[in-house]
Amino acid sequence: MSRSLTIALAPGDGIGPEIMAATMDLFKAAGVHNQADFVTVEMGGAEFAKGNSRGMSDACIRTVESCGILFKGPMETPKGGGGKSINVTARKLWNAYANYRVFKTLPGVETVYSKAGINIDMAIVRENIEDTYGGVEHRLSSDMVQCKRLISAPGSDQVHRFAYQTARKLGLKKIHCGHKANIMKMSDGLFLDRFKAVGKDFQEIEQADVIVDALCMNLVLKPQQYKMVVLPNLQGDIVSDLVAGLVGGLGFAPSANIGNHISIFEAVHGTAPDIAGRGIANPTSLVLSGLMMLRHLCLFKEAATIENALLATLESGIHTGDFGYTSGTNGAKVTPPVGTKEFTKAIIDNLGNTPKTVTPIPDAQAGDHCFIRPPAPTGQQVIRTFKNLQTQVVGCDIYLDTALSPISLAEEMNRVCQDTPFKLTIISNRGTQVWPTGSVYTECVDYYRVRFELRDGIAPGTFGQSRCVALMDKIAESFTVCSYELLRLFDGVKGYSMAQGQ
Ligand code: NAP
Repeated sequence: MSRSLTIALAPGDGIGPEIMAATMDLFKAAGVHNQADFVTVEMGGAEFAKGNSRGMSDACIRTVESCGILFKGPMETPKGGGGKSINVTARKLWNAYANYRVFKTLPGVETVYSKAGINIDMAIVRENIEDTYGGVEHRLSSDMVQCKRLISAPGSDQVHRFAYQTARKLGLKKIHCGHKANIMKMSDGLFLDRFKAVGKDFQEIEQADVIVDALCMNLVLKPQQYKMVVLPNLQGDIVSDLVAGLVGGLGFAPSANIGNHISIFEAVHGTAPDIAGRGIANPTSLVLSGLMMLRHLCLFKEAATIENALLATLESGIHTGDFGYTSGTNGAKVTPPVGTKEFTKAIIDNLGNTPKTVTPIPDAQAGDHCFIRPPAPTGQQVIRTFKNLQTQVVGCDIYLDTALSPISLAEEMNRVCQDTPFKLTIISNRGTQVWPTGSVYTECVDYYRVRFELRDGIAPGTFGQSRCVALMDKIAESFTVCSYELLRLFDGVKGYSMAQGQ
């Protein structure tokens, strides 16, 4: 039989190889291997161990780019230190910009919500490329480090469009944008503005927004009020683990990293090193992620057959150690747990069966669509949302490594800018204004922002950035300048924030 689909397969680290083997056994038994070839690629811990700091071989990159689909097990990321997360690298390298995570109450998976009869069925769409996950970090002074948080309009547009399109396919009436735009007015503000702007193309879907801390509380109190929430990267990462907890834990949370050309399917959970090699890991999350992949590839019937067998198995009470029905007040499990292999065999034995306590999954369902891969790009694209805005320089923020007091620093800065077009307007420390006014109770650290703006009577745009660079150069004669940011107007609107207390 000719198989037109080829899928790059990376088993992963820790419990990855065990749950990937289980998933492949199940897929083979359900006939998936008659429809698709799986090509194993070198990616993860073994590649790092060989000294490959990228964590994937050149052959792996070529294979993934030619297949357009990567099915991967979890991969380890060392905490701290220099090693970058291979998972984040893969998403960013191939521009898999939307992380789509689906959470559903499952039969046989007991939670406080299932016991209360509360059905959970929601999706989290997490922006996958930007935010603090750029990992752009620097030590700025002895006591200060910085992580740059990057949010772009086109990056936000991509993830919002994916969310609305998916909501439309699923027939959802409302989607929420989670954010912290009350504090980060420019970055989260842009993410929220683009949510509203993109939503204009989806008039039938009601849009709502919710501040992320309130969202977390609401999710615990009344999760059934949400159907889809789209969030910036870090907030989406945290919130999706929270929602995984509502449906029984990380063992039940599948995810798809969707891009225009390449998509990556993986479990939400990590390598679970504490149980690796013991044959007790729950493969459900990876199996469910694999089902998202099969549907993405148009293998709807195979996906439905496997999902029905999985649901029938879960509802029968067969379980791995991380879940199961409990009884009595001591929370003991009603039946003893089985290992990964026995659990998988039970699902294989159930192929062709359907669950009795929940509605069986039909071969075709709302939201199904086949991914059609566009032609490969011929070069790296520059994606843009706003073009041709008029910009004018009005000053600059200069960041200094110094332990001077705010008053002493102001004296020095006023002296340096004397013969320039700029006047010193504020000094802030950790974002709080400490000069010209401030509180003695505001403690300062050894890293300051000094803001210079055009003197009265000089019109915006009179000078370009070279005057700012010259000022910075002058300051650098006696101070360590860590960085500078231009202050600009974009079509007359300030492109910079105020300091707290300003
Ligand atoms: P984790 O691997 O998700 O595991 C946390 C805990 O959840 C485990 O200790 C285990 O709890 C339970 N668990 C997770 N998956 C399970 C499964 N399939 N079956 C049964 N129990 C499961 O989180 P972590 O310990 O924070 O991270 C470990 C490593 O994974 C880190 O290097 C991290 O960077 C990486 N990671 C990778 C990905 C990815 O590849 N996409 C995602 C997240 C984390 P018990 O203690 O109850 O056994």
